[in-house]
Amino acid sequence: MNKTGYLHDERYQQHETGNYHPEVPTRLVRIYQGIEAAGLLPKLIPLSASPADLKWIELVHDRPYIERFEKACQAGENRFDSPDNQMCSRTYEIALLAVGGILDAADRVMDGTLDNAFCAVRPPGHHAETNKAMGFCYFNNVAVAARYLQKQYRISRVGIIDFDVHHGNGTQHIFEGDSTVYYYSIHEHPSFAYPGTGREFENGKDFGFGFTKNSPVLPGQGDKEYMDLVQKDLVPAFREFNPEVILVSAGFDAHKDDEMSDINLSTDGFSWIMKTIMEMARHSAKGRIISVLEGGYCLRRLPELAASHVEILLNG
Ligand SMILES: [Zn+2]
Repeated sequence: MNKTGYLHDERYQQHETGNYHPEVPTRLVRIYQGIEAAGLLPKLIPLSASPADLKWIELVHDRPYIERFEKACQAGENRFDSPDNQMCSRTYEIALLAVGGILDAADRVMDGTLDNAFCAVRPPGHHAETNKAMGFCYFNNVAVAARYLQKQYRISRVGIIDFDVHHGNGTQHIFEGDSTVYYYSIHEHPSFAYPGTGREFENGKDFGFGFTKNSPVLPGQGDKEYMDLVQKDLVPAFREFNPEVILVSAGFDAHKDDEMSDINLSTDGFSWIMKTIMEMARHSAKGRIISVLEGGYCLRRLPELAASHVEILLNG
């Protein structure tokens, strides 16, 4: 069995998004309940969070953006930059805790006290741009973690796999000119799906050309198409890139019962993807995976999805 960390900190529930918002604190409660009910809690190493130092956030986000976000929270504003970025006066502080918890998990994976980790954080991160909050995201958690691994541990090749049903526009833009971070995303993509980026021909720019790959999936598609695309696009690309650590943007909103998308992935489909990622990590990254929660809004399905995700991190 692997040494798997589980970042669960109740303060992540203090980021409030108001009524009628799908990104609710209860998501984390449901995830915890699912992991507990599956009998997995005693097998996991509990992780809690401390706020990230701003110097790490600044590896990705502009200083003026960070200050603007902090001031908006202090001023009691209830939305920031985008209409769907609803927040409360504590959101800035909680967003720092999300990054801090992930960086701590990264430390433990790098020093070998953990083989891998699942970080159940809020707010999510992959839509956040260097200077703009978008799509429920404020700080790009996974992007900061990638830069942190490079700075702190001299990792020269970080692989990011994003299976949230939405394209991680922020993560792609942050690394598209960079050959040291490979960004792979599989997501729903007709032209009207949020955020609209992530087309097949977006392959990176300049020095980063060839280090971004997108697998768009049409509405109505599911397990079979995901399996085909992961085998065709992701597996060979990562075999060649040979990442030293794999970060996962783990969004569960491609599930067929999740109302945020028209993709019909089953719980078994998610398990297949995660097992494939585990195999890739064993092959090139000494098994090192830091999985970070992004979306996933079906409160009825989140418990089983999280339990299966964590069970695979534990047992492969
Ligand atoms: Zn999503």
